[in-house]
Amino acid sequence: MDQARVVGWGVSRYNRRAGLAVFICVPPWIPRLYPIVRIGIGQDSHRLVAGVALRIGGIDIPHDRALLGHSDADVLLHAVTDAVLGAAGLGDIGQMFPDTDPVNRGRDSAEMLAAAWKRAAGDGWRLGNLDCTVHAERPKLGPHRKAIVDRLAQILGCTPGKINVKAKTAEGAGPVGREEIIAAQCAVLLESTQEKT
Ligand SMILES: [Zn+2]
Repeated sequence: MDQARVVGWGVSRYNRRAGLAVFICVPPWIPRLYPIVRIGIGQDSHRLVAGVALRIGGIDIPHDRALLGHSDADVLLHAVTDAVLGAAGLGDIGQMFPDTDPVNRGRDSAEMLAAAWKRAAGDGWRLGNLDCTVHAERPKLGPHRKAIVDRLAQILGCTPGKINVKAKTAEGAGPVGREEIIAAQCAVLLESTQEKT
């Protein structure tokens, strides 16, 4: 079996069967052979109130209640935005889009995620993968899962295969189970071939 590891400015590779060790020198001005990876996590929740405007993952979902928030209250896109900004070391969604700024009132969260992604991509990051969980007692999100994945892929400019969306109920327990809130969590992996300082 081959064993490879990055050592200093190069890669050491050892083939046990052949008993051969090779060190390949990689000067720092040559792009890295192995990408730098960074992980980011995102979490958000919004209160459910009377209304019919429920948007999750950039998709309008028919429901008898709505999420309350300063923007369009898209709980999943807010979590993803925070995860992207966190992984890229760019702060958080509140710093980038303060809720004290009237411009952000009722704002489309897809626009906010796209702006956050543009900054991360501008710093040389590309998406490794994104894994999300939405906690909602109702409505059932299964039928909307593909549309949500496709929309996220469209905003992040990647293939849908890099994105996974899961939906969970709380089986009647806690604020999610009592249908007081909908919450979302996600983890994102960003990759870059550029050195970060
Ligand atoms: Zn939010």
